[in-house]
Amino acid sequence: MATKSRVKYCAVCEKEFSTMYRIQYKLPKAWVFTCKECLLKVKEGNPNYVYGGTWKR
Ligand SMILES: [Zn+2]
Repeated sequence: MATKSRVKYCAVCEKEFSTMYRIQYKLPKAWVFTCKECLLKVKEGNPNYVYGGTWKR
């Protein structure tokens, strides 16, 4: 592996953000990072949504 990246990309829109939200939103359950916009989009009426914390660069 090359240098450790401190940049995270949203698992939904694949853009780069300095503040990310660690969530689970689909099956099979796995932790992913999303931006706030996508978090609000995927959590809407989603029984698989779990919030796991906020990540800041
Ligand atoms: Zn996003």
